[in-house]
Amino acid sequence: MLVQRKGRMVVIEGCSVDIDHAVNSLRRLGASRVLVQSPLGLRKIAARVGQILAEKGFDVAFSSSNCWGGCDIAYHEAAAMGADALIHLGHTPFLKKDRTQTIYLECRYAEDGALKSLVPEITETVKGFASVGVGSSVQWLDCLKVVVEELRRVGLKVLTAKPSMHAVETAQVLGCDVSALKTLENSVETYLVVGSVFHALGIALLTSKPCFAADPHTQKVKNLWEMRERILRQRHYNIERFKKCQNVAVLVSVKPGQKKLGLARRINSMLKNYGKNSCILAADEITPSTILENTFEAFVNTACPRLSIEDQSQFSKPVILPAEAMVAMNALSWEEVVDEGLLMYPWGWTGGQAADKFWRPLRMVTT
Ligand code: SF4
Repeated sequence: MLVQRKGRMVVIEGCSVDIDHAVNSLRRLGASRVLVQSPLGLRKIAARVGQILAEKGFDVAFSSSNCWGGCDIAYHEAAAMGADALIHLGHTPFLKKDRTQTIYLECRYAEDGALKSLVPEITETVKGFASVGVGSSVQWLDCLKVVVEELRRVGLKVLTAKPSMHAVETAQVLGCDVSALKTLENSVETYLVVGSVFHALGIALLTSKPCFAADPHTQKVKNLWEMRERILRQRHYNIERFKKCQNVAVLVSVKPGQKKLGLARRINSMLKNYGKNSCILAADEITPSTILENTFEAFVNTACPRLSIEDQSQFSKPVILPAEAMVAMNALSWEEVVDEGLLMYPWGWTGGQAADKFWRPLRMVTT
């Protein structure tokens, strides 16, 4: 396995890993038993990190469960394993406070070659605009300046901003948090997201401005307009399907960063008041069999919003988002949801008035 030093960082599998930070933090915390958690794509790096920590004298175990984001920290596993601390790879802190002492190792790409070779196509794609808001998944943040500098050199106004929700770094976007871009809505003509289509689709669904995904892995720059329009049509179709269902459930995730029990209770009460048979359904992983095997005809998803967007085609029944449930109950119009960017986490980045449209009917119900 390739391991190099680059300054204070160790480069493992092409990613910078701050092992010194991990070791120093664990020692400062007095931790000896450590659980290493990573998303599936980073398991090789996790293995090497665990090996290095074991060589330093720590008692290391690995989490083999799925891990979908910083929302999905293995606090329960750490407690069950008697771990003093968690090492979490690949994400920035999502929650304001950790339940177990957690050290985050972001694993950003160490080399910008793949992004550099995409810069001519990026420039060609966005050069017709006067201004662009730029965002990135955390993995590409250290390389982003090659794009920003080139776009500025050819005369574009390039803006980046701090996020205001769960992401923490300037220009960082998550699948459910594009606040670093949405805050630029009145200042830019277009958006560019470096990373995957998944990351760029988040902003594409919340704005009518052109959005582009620049993926250094596929070496492609993709205009997301058609995808956005197709998904919004599918979302609307599923709202219509939901309206026809009588027995429904409100899904609540028990994942620490996805659990929205208060919201779920309010939506559940609202659905009952509206005449539906509704109950709350707790889940850790929400899979096609969760949807198929439970006898409800349709679901409201208060967990990761991207489940409804990316996985709806695998679900046999409608799995609509909270704002979509409001549309189904005539408490919001579909046009308001689309035009004001209320589809995902509408309390996160919309101005007070737009967010209030979502919350007002919910505040009026008793749970
Ligand atoms: S998009 Fe979903 S999985 Fe990713 S951080 Fe947000 S809630 Fe978690």
